[in-house]
Amino acid sequence: DIPVICIDGPTASGKGTLAAALAERLGYHVLDSGALYRVLALAAQRAGLATDEAALLDPEVAQRLGAMAAALPVRFDGGHLWLDDGDVTQAVRAEAVGMAASRISALPAVRTGLLALQRRFRRLPGLVADGRDMGTVVFPDAPLKVFLTASAATRARRRHEQLRARGENAMIDSLLADIEARDARDRSRAVAPLAMAEDALPLDNSDQSIEESVQTVLGWWQQ
Ligand code: C5P
Repeated sequence: DIPVICIDGPTASGKGTLAAALAERLGYHVLDSGALYRVLALAAQRAGLATDEAALLDPEVAQRLGAMAAALPVRFDGGHLWLDDGDVTQAVRAEAVGMAASRISALPAVRTGLLALQRRFRRLPGLVADGRDMGTVVFPDAPLKVFLTASAATRARRRHEQLRARGENAMIDSLLADIEARDARDRSRAVAPLAMAEDALPLDNSDQSIEESVQTVLGWWQQ
């Protein structure tokens, strides 16, 4: 079996940073599954498809998004993310794209559409997969599942720093509200809600450095 380490948890809990560090240490591939939902949101936007709550109630819109998901022309390459021939590494990080990704990710057709694509990332020598449902839905047989959390205040501060690094200046208070709204939606959706897998190990990194979190997970992996 090709090994997989799943890192699931709420938005801005540091999953991406931890997953990338672990993958580098172990020489594994990495799957940033949130990026796939973001790319799909961007592709929908570019196709002129509205993704507000009202539009998503239309079964035709849901079906179209599901079809787009199943044939998403996305590629990860040398730290860059491509949609068709365009580099969308920066574009998908916009706060508005993240919010749209969160909305479309509640659609069963979208989640099903992205399933096969995600599983294709499981290649030798191994994979570190980051997302919300890696351990519960995409790789239920993974030998190590981590559920990463941090306080909402810590996550708002991290998101603020990320956005500032790309020149987007947002108010901490509004980011906190966005984070809480996104968490609530991710936890309450009917399909693949954000939840800890029964066999996942919880890790709260609010007061941990990246290296401390890496060492904790490597310790679990070596057991
Ligand atoms: O992790 P990231 O913020 O990039 O993900 C964007 C959105 O995609 C999340 O808010 C979540 O709603 C959705 N998502 C998901 N399942 C995943 C990864 C992301 O529903 N495995």
